Amino acid sequence: MPNDYDPAGVLQRALLLERQQGFGDRAAVGGLSSFSRLQLERDRTGNPGLRHAVSVLSSYRESDRRGREAKVTEALQALLTRTAPSTSASVTGRSVTPQLPEPAGRRKPPARPRPPLTVVRSPEELDRPVMTLRGVGPNVARTLAVVNVRTVRDLLYYFPRTHYDFTDKRAISRMRVGEPTTLVGTVTNVRVNRIPGRGGPRKREFDITTVTVSDETGTVAVRFFNQPYLAQRMPVGVQIAVSGEPEVHNGYIVFLPRDFELIENEDLTHVGRLVPVYPLTKGLYQRSLRQLIRRTLEEYGPVLPDFLPDELREDLRLPDVSQAVSVYHFPDDDESKEWAQQRLAFDELLMIQLGLLLRKRDWQQGVDGVAVPVDEALLEGFCSSLPFDLTGAQRRVIAEILEDMARPAPMSRLLQGDVGSGKTVVAAAALVQAVAAGKQGALMAPTEILAEQHFRTLSSLLEPYGIRTELLVGSIKGARRKAVLAAAASGEAQVLVGTHALIQEGVDLSNLGLAITDEQHRFGVEQRATLRAKGLHPHMLAMTATPIPRTLAMTIYGDLDVSSIDEMPPGRLPVITTWSRSASEAYGVVRDEVRKGRQAFVICPVIEESEVTDMRSVVAEHEDLQRGVFRDLNVGLLHGKMKPAEKDRILTAFRNGGYHVLVATSVVEVGIDIPNATVMVIRDAHRFGLAQLHQFRGRVGRGGDQAFCVLLSASQGDDARERLEALTATENGFELAEEDLRLRGPGEFWGTRQSGLPELRVATLGDLPTIELARKAARDILSADPDLTSTNFRLLRDQVERFWSNSADLS
Ligand code: ADP
Ligand code: MG
Repeated sequence: MPNDYDPAGVLQRALLLERQQGFGDRAAVGGLSSFSRLQLERDRTGNPGLRHAVSVLSSYRESDRRGREAKVTEALQALLTRTAPSTSASVTGRSVTPQLPEPAGRRKPPARPRPPLTVVRSPEELDRPVMTLRGVGPNVARTLAVVNVRTVRDLLYYFPRTHYDFTDKRAISRMRVGEPTTLVGTVTNVRVNRIPGRGGPRKREFDITTVTVSDETGTVAVRFFNQPYLAQRMPVGVQIAVSGEPEVHNGYIVFLPRDFELIENEDLTHVGRLVPVYPLTKGLYQRSLRQLIRRTLEEYGPVLPDFLPDELREDLRLPDVSQAVSVYHFPDDDESKEWAQQRLAFDELLMIQLGLLLRKRDWQQGVDGVAVPVDEALLEGFCSSLPFDLTGAQRRVIAEILEDMARPAPMSRLLQGDVGSGKTVVAAAALVQAVAAGKQGALMAPTEILAEQHFRTLSSLLEPYGIRTELLVGSIKGARRKAVLAAAASGEAQVLVGTHALIQEGVDLSNLGLAITDEQHRFGVEQRATLRAKGLHPHMLAMTATPIPRTLAMTIYGDLDVSSIDEMPPGRLPVITTWSRSASEAYGVVRDEVRKGRQAFVICPVIEESEVTDMRSVVAEHEDLQRGVFRDLNVGLLHGKMKPAEKDRILTAFRNGGYHVLVATSVVEVGIDIPNATVMVIRDAHRFGLAQLHQFRGRVGRGGDQAFCVLLSASQGDDARERLEALTATENGFELAEEDLRLRGPGEFWGTRQSGLPELRVATLGDLPTIELARKAARDILSADPDLTSTNFRLLRDQVERFWSNSADLS
């Protein structure tokens, strides 16, 4: 490390970059938490500011955006108190007095009211490109297009992600540290301190602009980082309003502004109210965007037509859309924001529901589907050939599926069932019927490993019925592939198992009657589009063991009928789940089970160790175990960077008992079935989500023996504790899914992006009452007007199409 290496300066620059980039934790390799720790280790000066900054940043990754912003600010302050005390003399570098413009009185344009708007806009003009707006040139237009804003209407619908609350205007003497407030006063001094960048002459400099603001009651220093040009904009003598939070620095109160406004015009866009904060992208700036939206709202907002018929809107007691849009951008208070939000959230959820239902209708109407009559004798024969009795739940869902298939309208059904609830035989029962009716069936899995496993199971279940099952995955090539393709085309292969590519690549499935997907969360919209493009309309069944909270299922799968296996096969022992801090304890459990002839999984969050994370890697874990505690055992290694053939070889070896212990990443998350495995050890368990942990746990105990899951985590966080405790407390995947949703929100796993739905800007997927309201409204509307073609619903239809047109082309 070079002698002049300055850890505090390095961290400072990372923090500024982080702020600039919008707090995505991408400013430093490995994230700010570990990066800051690294700087502390390198620090030789014992800088207390740095120490404080590091502790502030410790849970940075886990914080939400607001929290991150506060942390960056606090950490910067901590570093500043050390490196840049409030007197300019001790600043490393020179103090610059900016060129102050002439006294403000003469320069400032006289405050005058806005000229009245002479143009009255028409609703058609809402579809004009943003370029037609004053102040929007080609560059701004291009930048706006990046965030999908192309028309005036898009801009009106570009909603803030949050609002800052600056409603509390206060005299300087009444400011309190830590309480956000707005102060209005006169600029009495401006100073820019420049701190040279370290580590070479070319490094960026770093500026602090201190603006002294006074009112009748006192004086306060307002400090801006890296915006030296502000000195020109805030000359001594002007009146400004500043919003932010007062903090104490070296015994002085310093005001850290979030926003400011020069008081030239009497209405305050940026301060003294709930201030909208818009999502930004490179080249888009908060203040100018805010102004642009404000102006556009004034001009075009009033002509936004309401696409909900008055009667419906009044029934639902929802505000008018034009008011709601305006108020949601610039609400006076929380109450009015909520009022507007209700309407806009309802609209989004209604658009989702209507879009899904219209698509389902398109899928099912006016096509020659394949009616597959139920062959009762065959069904009974199949059931009695199984080595076990079907559970009541399995029988019920089979009946639901076969009833759908007997109709010519293509089925669109979701089969939910917790890990191990026995979905595969249900799929097999449906496939037998499809084949008996002279049709082909296909089963698609998300990975090759899973496809191969399904292929094995289905072949053995279907063979007694003379059904030929073939496997088609990427690694099957050459002559073998040709033979499979020929068998598929001729109809000799009656059931095809493969990855998702099965229905996309040049596979001739013209006789396809039933398409089943396993753990394919975007099922529906996409697959149906692919199949429809081929002129195929098979029955579709999506299977999932990823428990979906009810509210999400209703939204994401609004177009699917749902069957649930809510009962486990009898005799299953619950997996004994413990949370432990001691790896040796966990390995003790592994040792005991291996002695009994059983096998174990050890899961780690990352593939390789890196300098900046402290997460356990499979590579290191594998080596340590094989050389250490388990040197007398065979320890296997499996991760996602291996070639498919290699993965397959290892998994097959594990299944055949070739390894006692398999160290793996989350590649084993879904579906892998190794009946002899009875121990699941998960390292750094807090790094995984609840639903995912539950999936891991479902990998063991599939053979009927008592199984164990040991969650290893030394995390002290409340979040981790809640999650891990929930997992030790319940076996029920659906309860866990609800809990996961409560703890983390739908974002992480079930964001609409994942599901192929348009993005929600205002609504949240946890808002059950609004979701239910929207569902009911969608049903009522479509039963009154199935195609939305009446004049009453024409605008609504347009809105649905607009709403969906930004997401993938789905029809
Ligand atoms: P999943 O729903 O997770 O896909 P599987 O279909 O893989 O579950 O079934 C898990 C295991 O349970 C398999 O070994 C299967 O043979 C067995 N199984 C399925 N149904 C029953 C049943 N009714 N009684 C006993 N065992 C069953
Ligand atoms: Mg399965």
